[in-house]
Amino acid sequence: MYKCLNCGREVKIELKTAKKIICPYCGYRILRKTRPNVVKKVYSD
Ligand SMILES: [Zn+2]
Repeated sequence: MYKCLNCGREVKIELKTAKKIICPYCGYRILRKTRPNVVKKVYSD
């Protein structure tokens, strides 16, 4: 899981297929890797 530094959304990225890491919500390219023990936040669209 990655977290977009622009919009703050958590993004699930499969590194096997994705060559570029881009936030699907806002298109921002800088995402921070989240740690597995971080409390999960559920976003509803
Ligand atoms: Zn974003």
